[in-house]
Amino acid sequence: VNNFWNPVINIGNFYNSLITATTYLERIFETMDEQPTVRDADDAFDLPPVKGDVRFRNVCFQYEADGPLILDHVSFHARPGQTIALVGPTGAGKSTIINLLARFYNVTSGQLTIDNVDSQRVTLASLRSQVGVMQQDTFIFSGTIMDNIRYGRLDASDADVLRAAKVARADDFIQTLPAGYQTVVQEHGGSLSAGQRQLIAFARVLLADPRILILDEATAAIDTQTEALLQAGLAELLKGRTSFIVAHRLSTIRQADQILVIDHGQIVEAGRHAELMAQRGVYYELYDSQYRLLQATE
Ligand code: ADP
Repeated sequence: VNNFWNPVINIGNFYNSLITATTYLERIFETMDEQPTVRDADDAFDLPPVKGDVRFRNVCFQYEADGPLILDHVSFHARPGQTIALVGPTGAGKSTIINLLARFYNVTSGQLTIDNVDSQRVTLASLRSQVGVMQQDTFIFSGTIMDNIRYGRLDASDADVLRAAKVARADDFIQTLPAGYQTVVQEHGGSLSAGQRQLIAFARVLLADPRILILDEATAAIDTQTEALLQAGLAELLKGRTSFIVAHRLSTIRQADQILVIDHGQIVEAGRHAELMAQRGVYYELYDSQYRLLQATE
């Protein structure tokens, strides 16, 4: 058991891969030296199954009481099933918004609601079972591909795993491995490419099936063939979930229902790609400087 969790603990970042509470989040917390600051309120109740309506109302946030204001009156409304892309320069506050969504921290002031329930009033377990977090670097442990995917929902049957892998577009590459789903991969998945590790993460998400999904999109260089699979897999992942993506790929950003442009802890622009381009503001500049060059490769 110790071996099983060590890689996660060593990383020192408590959400380094897909996380949902029902599977392993709480176990990670239990074994971590550094306990999270957020705990259930004494009168906390379970969040009922949600549709995925997410609202920030004038959310302000500081990591430390006497530290700088990191989020400054952030307000937005994500409707069930929408894809929200968070864009903006490094240090703008994108990851912080995601930290609050997953309730790794509580808001300093303002309110965050899920289906109109204040996220701070519900139990962490009930919240996190409905909020899936997927990090750039997929956590792979030493074991079979089958078990690595099953990590998304420990009681999933082999048939469930296979179905999820197919929908996630991971099945193709798994079939080419020496022993298919029974192939044993080493810790950190060195024998798998970055793209293949992501496809495994996609399958895990499909198994866990959270209504709300948080994704830090990978920036790793990926071959064009895997890239096409990832795009198809991602489209499946986003179906029927409210998704928040710290987006790096132009294709993802262009397809988002809402793009939130974050700068210095504030939402400076919000809208769809075409709207924001027409405004010729911050997004337009960002697009011009960071994304236009990518167009040729996508
Ligand atoms: P982004 O994801 O847009 O790059 P972040 O949300 O990571 O931005 O960071 C926003 C600001 O918060 C930065 O100034 C960063 O230094 C600060 N910050 C991030 N994490 C912490 C932390 N754990 N403690 C204190 N400050 C932090």
